[in-house]
Amino acid sequence: METYMMSIGGQPVQAERTFGVVNPATGEVFARVPAGNTAHLDSAVAAARAAFPAWSRTPDADRQAAVHALAGVLERHMPELMDLVTRETGKPLGGLNGVGAGMEVGGAIAWTHVTADLSLPVEVIQDNEQARIEVHRKPLGVVGSITPWNWPLMIAIWHVMPALRAGNTVVLKPSELTPVATLRFVELAGGVLPPGVLNVISAEREAGVGEAMATHPGIDKIVFTGSTPTGRRIMAAAAGNLKRLTLELGGNDAGIVLPDAAPGADPEALAARLFGVGFHNNGQTCACLKRLYVHDSLYEPLCQALARLARDAVVGDGLQADTQLGPVQNARQRDYVHALVEDARAQGARVLSGGQLPEGAGYFYPPTVLADVRDGMRVVDEEQFGPVLPVIRYSDIDEVIARANDNPNGLGGSLWSSDPAGAAALALRLECGSVWINEHGAIQPDAPFGGVKQSGIGVEFGRYGLEEYTTIQTVKIMKG
Ligand code: NAD
Repeated sequence: METYMMSIGGQPVQAERTFGVVNPATGEVFARVPAGNTAHLDSAVAAARAAFPAWSRTPDADRQAAVHALAGVLERHMPELMDLVTRETGKPLGGLNGVGAGMEVGGAIAWTHVTADLSLPVEVIQDNEQARIEVHRKPLGVVGSITPWNWPLMIAIWHVMPALRAGNTVVLKPSELTPVATLRFVELAGGVLPPGVLNVISAEREAGVGEAMATHPGIDKIVFTGSTPTGRRIMAAAAGNLKRLTLELGGNDAGIVLPDAAPGADPEALAARLFGVGFHNNGQTCACLKRLYVHDSLYEPLCQALARLARDAVVGDGLQADTQLGPVQNARQRDYVHALVEDARAQGARVLSGGQLPEGAGYFYPPTVLADVRDGMRVVDEEQFGPVLPVIRYSDIDEVIARANDNPNGLGGSLWSSDPAGAAALALRLECGSVWINEHGAIQPDAPFGGVKQSGIGVEFGRYGLEEYTTIQTVKIMKG
């Protein structure tokens, strides 16, 4: 069994102990990683601080070339990284609608190239006979990145690449459940980046490394993707040195199927699209469709079509070529999802597919479609983050928009209609950071993405995302 290493100051670092990383398809440990601690964190922050002056003064074109070179590293090691992602997350290599480890590594490559090509030129806001005023974007210093288990490599790339591109140095801490592909990537990145520019620590949760990052005086910004409760803790802990924060937190995205969504009242094609955006990666994506509101006129046929797709989906080990959906990533999450389904069942929901804990190894859960679900049930109100889709009936558009908004989260939302322009007019009434018409969760590296309300602070991607890794310096040059 392979043991992976941390990277601190350009050196591979082992800890006194290692801990096992479980493959959720088998329930067995498949790799071991160092059990890092806060002393490793201190070394990593010191290495990142030492590397910052030179990296931040490196000519912009050289940093751009380095980030492109990191994409090249990902490209050359794509099969290996896909295999590691599948083993640690359970997501299929291919997956439902191509959403799997191939998309995770492929997306990481695409995001890296697009981020490399971004720039933040000096803005001149006044240039006359009195004075010239320039607005410069400068790196912040050391960025601490804390990542979750659902898209571990891609989310690490979303944090690391803009941070490096803008001239910061980075200390990265992956989730204790999925550290392997990230450790391997940073090891490989050592062939491109100067020592200390990118450091990574693996640690068990009890070691308190995430908490120590949030309070660390040597870290200038935290970029965090994970749950809302953890995001709140980080925000409180980060006050000591006024850390800048980007928080990408939980979502409970509503999709609203408008009465005209299925021309000819044929729900099959519509159901296939809704099924994809609700169930890919087993619903373990922050911007998956998690609450589906369907107009009365389409309700029953659409529920039945969704349930047929759920029953036909191929669930299995992600390493098998035909698998569409793998296991849930961890036992705790599977138990939580099942508890929400049981709660809904007890309150009168109809379980149209799935809903049973399977026997056997691994953390599998069948794709589950629930009908006759109401707002107020836990499976609607809470972020279930699993292969479950509650389908909720509505009859009035104003009322359904109010119900969609009546949730503390505000990550994404969608409207489904055969009149996209009409639906777009409703989009601004949804309280969320992104709205898709006839799509859901369709992010891309040049369009900003982030949550409102309890789904986070700040945005990622594109110029807006890059700016979050900088501070403004205004330079006024008097003339005459
Ligand atoms: P989590 O909050 O439990 O853990 C995320 C990371 O935070 C892990 O690395 C963990 O070790 C670390 N951590 C835990 N406690 C900490 C603390 N007190 N201080 C600092 N770090 C700490 O989240 P998770 O269960 O790994 O991920 C699932 C959640 O992530 C879901 O809510 C999902 O919606 C969210 N998510 C959001 C986005 C987005 O872009 N908005 C993307 C993916 C996932």
